[in-house]
Amino acid sequence: MAWRSNHQAVYPDPSLPFSSPGCPSASLSISSTTASSYPPSSRTLTFSKSIPIPSKKIEACNTQNKEVLGWLDAMKAQSPPRFESYMGGVLDPKAQEAAAVAQYSAWRENHPSALEMFDELMEEAAGKQIVVFLDYDGTLSPIVEDPDRAYMSDLMRATVKEVATHFPTAIISGRGREKVYDFVQLAELYYAGSHGMDIMGPAEGCNGFKATGTRAKDKKGNEVVFFQPASKFLPMMDEVCKLLEDKAQSIPGAKIEHNKYCVTIHFRRVKEECWGPLAEQVEIVLKSYPELQLTLGRKVLEIRPAIEWDKGKAVEFLLKSLGLEDVDDVLPVYLGDDRTDEDAFMALNDRGKAFSILVSTVAKSTNALYSLRDPSEVMTFLQTLVRWREGHPQSLCKPADER
Ligand SMILES: [Mg+2]
Repeated sequence: MAWRSNHQAVYPDPSLPFSSPGCPSASLSISSTTASSYPPSSRTLTFSKSIPIPSKKIEACNTQNKEVLGWLDAMKAQSPPRFESYMGGVLDPKAQEAAAVAQYSAWRENHPSALEMFDELMEEAAGKQIVVFLDYDGTLSPIVEDPDRAYMSDLMRATVKEVATHFPTAIISGRGREKVYDFVQLAELYYAGSHGMDIMGPAEGCNGFKATGTRAKDKKGNEVVFFQPASKFLPMMDEVCKLLEDKAQSIPGAKIEHNKYCVTIHFRRVKEECWGPLAEQVEIVLKSYPELQLTLGRKVLEIRPAIEWDKGKAVEFLLKSLGLEDVDDVLPVYLGDDRTDEDAFMALNDRGKAFSILVSTVAKSTNALYSLRDPSEVMTFLQTLVRWREGHPQSLCKPADER
């Protein structure tokens, strides 16, 4: 579910105070170079270079802002739930754990383990071309405090490489494409960064599949295809990232990540009492950019172009590029852990013949039909898939131009 700013353009008020108990006073520092050409008005943004706000005059954060409260509630809902006793009190840690285990078991009734169901799933896969789509953070790598250190293990990399040897394989991530590539470092994959707004992959895969699309050479001279449906938004995303970096400076732990067509605001290292002030600053910036929209992830808010494009559309685009969009003998498999992966789960569920798999250690509302607990189970699933494929060479259907 995405939140889109429906407001008329309102210029950010650099003098707006914000604070909250436990959250230090703000000192907004906004460069005059951030003057925007995008707000739909001829008015020019001119900010003073640095506006220190005396702590005495700071008022409490406006947490009555319904839009901001909605974002925070939805973000908190992504975190493991706290269980209360029948009397309304919070349970002790052991009882909390037992309640979470019971809830997860019940949830698994509706979203069975893709590993436990593997043999049954593969009965459906017989004779079909499997195409593998993988989210990165929380799926191939563990969720870590510092997003710059979300490394995947060498064993996971080797496993994904093997998967790509047998099946067309794509990474679909909210991160910038280059950043995901730096983490994964496998040239044989397709990469859809910025929630699929920046797609690139080999023109001809090691598994024999050829992709159609705009062709170019990558830095190493390899022929690639690429697709960037939101390219006109690039200068705007640079501008928004700079604004947010300036505004987030005074909030300890806040991290702004430029993911090319998506700016990610990380809350993971921010104390919960500072979430409101940070979210308010995001809202202030977003108000000036009606062409952008806000989406939620696991302890992140993300700003991206408000175009009809998401991970689901990226999956459909890649299937079409590979000549695998309409055929009955294709079986896409999508693994992801995040709210933004739900668009892909829905797209695949609509298609009918597909496996949508949520990676989660807690029960949560999802469109995915199946589940895996964590990246280690993802690795076991992928290794099992490779072994299955090696045992069923006849199950591979041919690339479109050879049918
Ligand atoms: Mg993820």
